[in-house]
Amino acid sequence: MRIDLRSDTVTKPTKSMLEFMMQAQVGDDVFREDATVNLLEEKIAKMFGKSSALFFPSGTMANQTALKLHTNPGDQVICDKYAHIYNYESGGASFNSGISCKLLDGNRGMFTANQVKEAINPEAYYYSKTSLVEVENTTNKGGGACWDFDEIKKIRTVCDNNDLGFHLDGARLWNALVYKNERALQYGEVFDTISVCLSKGLGCPIGSVLVGDDAIMKEAIRIRKIFGGNMRQAGYLAAAGIYALDNNIDRLKNDHDKAKEIGVELTKLSIIKAVEPIETNIVIFELNSSISDKEFTNKLAQKDIHIISMGGGKLRMVTHLDYTDAMHNKFLETLKTL
Ligand SMILES: *Cc1c(COP(=O)(O)O)cnc(C)c1O
Repeated sequence: MRIDLRSDTVTKPTKSMLEFMMQAQVGDDVFREDATVNLLEEKIAKMFGKSSALFFPSGTMANQTALKLHTNPGDQVICDKYAHIYNYESGGASFNSGISCKLLDGNRGMFTANQVKEAINPEAYYYSKTSLVEVENTTNKGGGACWDFDEIKKIRTVCDNNDLGFHLDGARLWNALVYKNERALQYGEVFDTISVCLSKGLGCPIGSVLVGDDAIMKEAIRIRKIFGGNMRQAGYLAAAGIYALDNNIDRLKNDHDKAKEIGVELTKLSIIKAVEPIETNIVIFELNSSISDKEFTNKLAQKDIHIISMGGGKLRMVTHLDYTDAMHNKFLETLKTL
């Protein structure tokens, strides 16, 4: 039994998802004639209370489009030092939009409204223009941590007072909504743009969506085209998204429970130095000096259990739709033997 905990992106579409995909009505999306893509976009826009949404092949492209929508070359975006847009998008912020990131030293990928206030550049011409604040929820490198919504609202006020755009990288927002018992609508109310992933916890083979109001989203499709992201009969893929939104959100709690149970076992092991707090489906931990990352991951790999090292002495496991109860039981038993 192969147990793959490297990421929640390793899931494969289930039979029922595939059947739903096969029945999709499709058309040429470049002519905006793909009924299923249009349906998915309307559905997500409505969930967030926004007037517009656009389907993307990847979360990276959706975020990169948002950065471009909110900025001009030379501008600066305020984000956490752990931000996906800064660490894991291949330098796209500078490549695609010609902008720099002002990194905040947050806590597990989250920062405060005061930190934002202090990071805004003064108006003098020799500073780069601060034009955007970016928040990630849940935080990826921060171990699936969920933001305090009150802090997000305070940051919104700072954005309003300083004429800044506000973008949410919500690749795993679904996990936060379930964990915190929050609604998509409240996020739609405070952010100008939001990207969400369908291909992580929700189990789709591909797909992300960017939502916002018409005024800012008007140019999104042009930018997506410039980035090479136009698609044709993408309705088969959008159908997976519709299926996932209807069937796979509530069950995320199951992933969270499993992650917590893994955390409990890990903390019992003498070779583990620390386990970061576990809120959703990501488990980040450190080993003590008696064993190296490589030795530990190799040891698990020999038992066909796969996890990743994040560098800096940190290791990561992510629970997901394809991580079954049987796998979970076997893994917990295996941990006890280490
Ligand atoms: C996965 C992820 C993305 C998008 O990644 P893609 O692989 O391009 O779909 C964006 N932000 C965060 C926080 C992520 O975890």
